[in-house]
Amino acid sequence: MPTVTPLSRPAQHWIPFNDERAECRLCPRHCRPKNDRMGFCGVRGTVKGEIRSFNYGQSLAATEEIIETEAVNHFSPGARILSMGNVGCMMACSFCQNWETSQIQHLDHKIVRHYTPEQLVEMCLENDIPIISWTYNDPVVWHEFVVKTSTLAQKNGIKTLYKSAFYIEEAPVNELLECIDIFSLSLKSLNAEFYQKHTKAKLQPVLERIKQIADSGAYLELSQLVIPELNDQDEDIEQTIDWVIENVGADVPLHFVAFHPAYQYTHVERTDITTLKRARKLALAKGMTHIYLGNAYEADLNNTACQSCGTVLVKRYGLHATLQNLDKHSCCTQCGTQSPIIEPMINKPLSIQKTPTTKQLQINWTDEVQSAHILQSKGNGGKDSLLIHSLNDEFTVVKELSKRLDRFIVSRRSDKETGIIISWDSDCEYQPLEVLDRAHYPVSFL
Ligand code: SF4
Repeated sequence: MPTVTPLSRPAQHWIPFNDERAECRLCPRHCRPKNDRMGFCGVRGTVKGEIRSFNYGQSLAATEEIIETEAVNHFSPGARILSMGNVGCMMACSFCQNWETSQIQHLDHKIVRHYTPEQLVEMCLENDIPIISWTYNDPVVWHEFVVKTSTLAQKNGIKTLYKSAFYIEEAPVNELLECIDIFSLSLKSLNAEFYQKHTKAKLQPVLERIKQIADSGAYLELSQLVIPELNDQDEDIEQTIDWVIENVGADVPLHFVAFHPAYQYTHVERTDITTLKRARKLALAKGMTHIYLGNAYEADLNNTACQSCGTVLVKRYGLHATLQNLDKHSCCTQCGTQSPIIEPMINKPLSIQKTPTTKQLQINWTDEVQSAHILQSKGNGGKDSLLIHSLNDEFTVVKELSKRLDRFIVSRRSDKETGIIISWDSDCEYQPLEVLDRAHYPVSFL
């Protein structure tokens, strides 16, 4: 039952409806909750005839990830991002990969934290994280907080990324265009019936908003979750490809993403890699130029190559990306051709004074789990240094956490790597949480 609390805020994008109700105009659902009732998303409701936001700054734990986690491959490959998710959603996909937080009726409020815009910007600055990403459940439903924080982030030199299913109205999108640098938008299908039945949303507004972003010239990548028995036939995939080519262009990066069984859609297996490869073949045959496969761990599957001479410019494995053969103007060093890569940046190397050895945590990769969130389950209120060492490969990386950032992603780096060992010396404790899908936020009740 919504009531005015110190954490609730007046919402934007609504109109009075009658004495008892207001109409929310943030997403095309146009809910008209009665006084003291919530709308469909469960986080915006009517109090005394006005729509208020009940999740302003109420968030999942901020998590350091890699930009490839967000189905973004051509903007600063390999960049560290601060991923921010919240609770509630304006859709209700039967196959939701983050249903424990998006479908609010299932939420355990013990996992919710509260951040201010200033705290998030400081967290990025003190951890040298160049991009803040609005992601997981869906950023549409905490619009006011996203706009305020993104505006502040940009003023402080931090880029902003918006990953969404984009069931949203035109006016709020105009506000996003003022404060978001990178859009990563997902289409579920080109079938209106599919949207209605499996997402409880309408297809047409999603298409119109994607077109709005494309027409604006803002940076855009697109993705489609490929779900066994729902949208994995050639006809389904070709419909998406045809619409993208006609409305956005053949050069937009398009990601076909593997699904893992979740929420109400658990009777099928994960999407097979051969299905994703078939989708890519169809897209390339129709003239698309940059097709990537998400949630797929295989050497050289997702590299970005020079369009002229074929030289590999970005080498990828899973979520990891390494720049190669690119000069500072994003041109191929072999033939000079301009690449599609925007703002190539190299993450600032972190140094560690001595090699930690006292405590260790080992994670073994399996076919099901090839990345994990590492959560600091007991902190020391200050900075901590960890060493991440690859099993069966030559890789070692140093990680530093500030007192406010206590969660980060680790991910398999090669076919050879069978697992990792994390070492540290402090009195902190760390817990691994399995990530089943790159968009998945594993919950912990610590
Ligand atoms: S944002 Fe929430 S309350 Fe507003 S129209 Fe959409 S589902 Fe309804």
